[in-house]
Order: sequence, then C-alpha cells, then structure tokens
Amino acid sequence: MSQDFYEILGVSRDASEDEIKEAYREKAREYHPDVSDDPDAEEKFKQAKKAKEVLTDEEKRQMYDQMGHERFEQAEKRGGAGGGGRGGMGGDPFGGGAGGFDMQDIFDQFFGGGGRGGRGGSRRRQGQDLQTRLEIDLEEAYNGATKQLNVTRPEACDDCDGAGHPPGADSETCPECNGQGQTTQVQQTPMGRVQQTTTCRRCDGEGTLYDETCSTCRGNGVVQNDASLEIEVPAGIANGQTLRMGREGAPGENGGPNGDLLIEVSVRDHPDFERDGDDLQHQQAISFPQAVFGDTITVPTLDGEVEVDVPSGTQSGEVFRLEGKGMPRLQRRGHGDLYVQVQVVTPDSLNTEQKEALEQFAEAGGEEVDVEEGFFEKLKNSL
Ligand SMILES: [Zn+2]
Ligand SMILES: [Zn+2]
Repeated sequence: MSQDFYEILGVSRDASEDEIKEAYREKAREYHPDVSDDPDAEEKFKQAKKAKEVLTDEEKRQMYDQMGHERFEQAEKRGGAGGGGRGGMGGDPFGGGAGGFDMQDIFDQFFGGGGRGGRGGSRRRQGQDLQTRLEIDLEEAYNGATKQLNVTRPEACDDCDGAGHPPGADSETCPECNGQGQTTQVQQTPMGRVQQTTTCRRCDGEGTLYDETCSTCRGNGVVQNDASLEIEVPAGIANGQTLRMGREGAPGENGGPNGDLLIEVSVRDHPDFERDGDDLQHQQAISFPQAVFGDTITVPTLDGEVEVDVPSGTQSGEVFRLEGKGMPRLQRRGHGDLYVQVQVVTPDSLNTEQKEALEQFAEAGGEEVDVEEGFFEKLKNSL
C-alpha cells in the first residue's frame, strides 16, 4: 500500500530540494506522533521521512525517478536486509552490503555504465572475437600439427598507435559534451523525469577533438592487416571442432584487451579410413582362397602398416578389431580402435587354369557347372 514519494509529500515531480524539505517539515508537524490524533500518524510520519530522505539525495532521486516506486522499493528491500539493527524506517535505504544490493550495479544499469565522474564514454572494452577456418588431413589430426594460418584481421593502426590522429595533433576539449564523452538528455514525461545518457556523437565518446585525422586509418584507429599466425593443432582433433587463440582477435577499445581468434577445424576425408569418434574403419579386400584357407594380410593404419591374421573360413563382411589403432583421444590418454572389415573379392576374369580348377572345385562339392555358359545366362535359364 505504499504511495509515491512525491504524493506523500504533496510536491510536484520537478520540485526543488528546498520545496521538498519545506513540504517534509509541514508533514512532520502534521503527523508527528506526539502531536497528531490521526491513528495512522506514526506510519505517515515515517513515510514522509523516507520520502524526504530519498528525494533530497540527488543520486537516489535519479534512481527513484528512473526505476519507479515499485522497483525502487524492491531493490531497497533486497539491500535493506543486510542493514538491520536500526529498527524500522529511517536508515539508509541502501544500507548494508551484506544484502547484496550493489548501488553501483543499479547505477550502471540505469545510466549505461561508466558511472559517476570521469569520461564515461571511453570505457575499456574487449575487442571482438574473430573466426576463421583451417583444413587439415586426417594424418595431421592423428599426429597433431603446427599449421600456418593467414588471416586478414583488424589491428590497431601502427601510424597513430590506434588513436585515430597523428601523435602531435592539436586538440581541444569537445564543446558538445565538455570533455565528458557523454551527453545527457532529461525528458519530462507523465511518469517523471527520464534521463538518457548517450555517447557524445561529436567526439565519439573521447571528450577531445583533434584537428588532424590519421590518413592511414582515416581516424578509425584500426586497419585491416594480413597476419600470419602459427597454431598448434592438438592430436585427436575432430572435424568441426573449434580452437581458440587468445588475444588474436580484433583490438580492444580504450586500452581494453584484444578479442580471441576462433579457428574452426575441418578434417579432410581420407581414402582409406572413415572416422567414427575416436575409432577408425577400414575396408580391406581379400581373395577367395585367403578367406577359405586363412592368411596373414597387411593392413594400413595411420601409424604404418600392420599384419593381421585372417583365420580360415572368414566370411565376407567380417570385422576385425585392432585395439588402440584408432585416433588418439583429444586431451586424454590412449587411442580408439581400428575396425577392419574384410571384403572377399569375386574375380571378374579367370584364366583357363583357374576356370578348370574352379570347375573341379564345384563338381567336388556336387554342383553342376557348364563353364561355356556365363553366369547371367545360367541365371536367365533357371528363371
Ligand atoms: Zn563530445
Ligand atoms: Zn591511424
């Protein structure tokens, strides 16, 4: 049931400090608990006192006007929790850091940061992060690699040290903002005074005007440069992962730190291996006799060739797992596995000797084979 502070004191929203104090003295006389017959006198007296305390403090009044009654009271309650001890009203509404009500936070929130005093417009600000791409081979992802990166990126202009004007340029205080870097407009609205603080357009928030502009960067303080950087690609990196090079991004403003450079890595496809997380897959052709009798075959890995025993009676499509022959695990120990799938190759041309041998093989198994007839003809005849 709390009332607007201006209404409590019965003054207008643009009342001067003197008017507010005078109004308070009147209310105090009227509602002083020792004098008044009004049953609510004590409460009204306290409210008037609080209204006067807020409205006669320039900073608190600005906040009150900006936030409105409800939010101001809520903020105060949060902070007041830490104040305690004084019993009821009358204490500093912003008392007690313990309550977590940070006045500067609220102030920054409503006045656009930078806060009181100084050249608020020229805040230190971190530069933007920049993005680029890097393509590597699967071998490089396997072993790790040192790669050269060429990027075109904004950098502080060398000729003016990022200032935007030659070092010896004459300067004057910006007349628009009186060197503050910010301008403040106060608007009268039905809700009260609304104060808007913006970066000064004339001096771009610097507070100073220079009679010369750096011709290299046209006053921006920033130029596009080609940079060549070396980056360490860690073993185990996967397609689509992003590496971050700290402070290699766009330059910061007003002495703020550079942004970062983000490098999206794409790993080229490999003719021999398909990757599945830390595991690799490989298709290996073997002959029919190798599948039948078994053999020791040579299989490529990203770490050189290895020999694999294929047992007799291996079926086409069977998979052999080579433990630890996959990709290294990024930032962890160990490797994934390599899965080798064997494909039994059916020969598409045979010499006479082979034909005869196969014919005998088939007959020995009880199959009837007419070698003059091709496979497809045989298929057609049987339909
Ligand atoms: Zn200015
Ligand atoms: Zn320059």
